[in-house]
Amino acid sequence: MGSKHLVKTAMTNAKYIGRFAPSPTGTLHFGSLVCALASFLDARHQSGRWLLRIEDIDPPREIAGSTTTILRQLSDHGLSWDGEILYQSTRTEAYREAIAALQSADIAYNCDCPRQRLTALGGIYDGHCRQRKVIEKPAIRLQVPTESGARESEATIRFDDLIMGHYIQNLCSEIGDFIIQRRDLLFSYQLAVAVDDQFQNISHIIRGVDLIYSTPRQIYLQKCLTSLSGDKPPTLTYGHLPMAINAEGQKLSKQNHAAALEVGKESQNLWLALQWLGQQPPDQLKNEPINRILDWAIDNWSISRISKQLSIPAPDQY
Ligand SMILES: [Zn+2]
Repeated sequence: MGSKHLVKTAMTNAKYIGRFAPSPTGTLHFGSLVCALASFLDARHQSGRWLLRIEDIDPPREIAGSTTTILRQLSDHGLSWDGEILYQSTRTEAYREAIAALQSADIAYNCDCPRQRLTALGGIYDGHCRQRKVIEKPAIRLQVPTESGARESEATIRFDDLIMGHYIQNLCSEIGDFIIQRRDLLFSYQLAVAVDDQFQNISHIIRGVDLIYSTPRQIYLQKCLTSLSGDKPPTLTYGHLPMAINAEGQKLSKQNHAAALEVGKESQNLWLALQWLGQQPPDQLKNEPINRILDWAIDNWSISRISKQLSIPAPDQY
């Protein structure tokens, strides 16, 4: 890059916009801290902007007070974001417009298939409702390109992941037409993320590998939406991080009772996260103030040092 020594100046790289996008379904644990830290460092190392988005579009799953706690945890660890926070709960009009555009273009359709039928299909939807013109209380699906005919190659989505390498998925044979608005009217994660990444002009997405399977759907949705609006399709760069797992080999999560990040141990947390991310922080950094640790980490950040393994055990205390 050659820009390493410009990091601490006021220069910003207008081409790099990264983001961290937690959902308020619990507080940050070690697994979410490494995601926040990696996306922060990748942005700051390249003098880019780092935005914060709260993915609060699934009220039944939310836990009161967790947004406040997440913001405090980020601040306590020195992970300061740029600009205003984007709350997905304020974006329903944009999601509705996106769905309306996809429906007018005949690439999204209503589906009222009962759960039993979907279960029998084993996860890959068969396009049953494409021509049925369902009206009553439907879910809405996005039609993916079919295997046969002129659109064959469009079903195959590929990208070069900064960490995991080349990734390829066939939307037709591996995913099928997927839900963009649920029967209970909640917008799907895929739709909201695609619309908002575009809205915020995101250029780089660094997040957990548990989301890599979703990435081709988001790439395809963005492609559909930009082609309908006449915009240039975005070229996003993705890096998917290994998952932090507990001693039982499970992903750290609220459900698995992941330990909360200990207050007052921010320096140690950052040091452990850097070590977990393969950045080899020097031992003497462990007890330095958070800003000293982050300055070192921004200067020395190297995404190529992150392991390509799908999961890595979290430190013992987490
Ligand atoms: Zn259906």
